Amino acid sequence: MQVVCFDEGKVGVIDGDRVRDISAVIGGRWRGTPHAMNELIRSWDAVAADVRTLSETGPSVALAQARLTAPLPSPRHLFAAPLNYRTHVAEMVGSRHAPPALRPNQTSRNLGFFLKAPGSICGPLDAVELPSLPTREFHHEVELGVVIGREARGIAVDDAHEYIFGYVCLLDITMRTDGDRQEERVMRKSFETFTPIGPWIVTTDEIPDSGALDLRLWVNEELRQSANTRDLIVPVDDLVSSASHVVSLSPGDIYATGTPDGVGPIVVGDTIRASIESVGELQLPVVQRSW
Ligand code: MN
Repeated sequence: MQVVCFDEGKVGVIDGDRVRDISAVIGGRWRGTPHAMNELIRSWDAVAADVRTLSETGPSVALAQARLTAPLPSPRHLFAAPLNYRTHVAEMVGSRHAPPALRPNQTSRNLGFFLKAPGSICGPLDAVELPSLPTREFHHEVELGVVIGREARGIAVDDAHEYIFGYVCLLDITMRTDGDRQEERVMRKSFETFTPIGPWIVTTDEIPDSGALDLRLWVNEELRQSANTRDLIVPVDDLVSSASHVVSLSPGDIYATGTPDGVGPIVVGDTIRASIESVGELQLPVVQRSW
């Protein structure tokens, strides 16, 4: 199932070329709010029968007419893996953008996660907005996003799949500068619109193996990144388990699983297109921030 947010606060399911409105299953307190999708995910098992009915017979609009917004605008946590593909570690070590202390043996395996500000999230019809900082570069990173399905505390790797609701195509836009005068990573990756997600969340039943998905990214039709999630250093289930030993995970939390090699600059006027097999495709223009 492909689950979306659309038309200011509605939640829906893709049905061919239409969007079925399933907002009626959301508890009244959360319906129409930025937390509607979190509540849908939290109550998913309890409302499954109603979702199934509405996904076939609910009120619908043409997908082309629906204003799709970020499918999860308000996760409690937005985790991210720092160095989770060997090829990306290799391109960063020795790069002028690398912090001086970066070594090839540093990966997400020993570094764990960092956080991005949830306020950096934007949706499939938005634009990546670059702030006016002439001495800085802004880089694209395509990543598989994992969406947590239920409260998870201290869970085992073998059980982690039971706590995953689905997957989302995600961009981790990053400000970079020379290694010895870098700002905090959290800030460099937290500018508003620096985490585009969507256009929908795909539920796990449609993804038999999260470790066998092609992911690609183009800038202006030039292929910049191309890899497969089988090359993740720390696989999805390990990431989820490890994070759950640090803090309780909540339904609707997102984990950006890291980017492969090929990261590079984007500038105003570019168009970024990212695609993850069986998950979804995002295309956004890069514009100058207006504020
Ligand atoms: Mn990243």
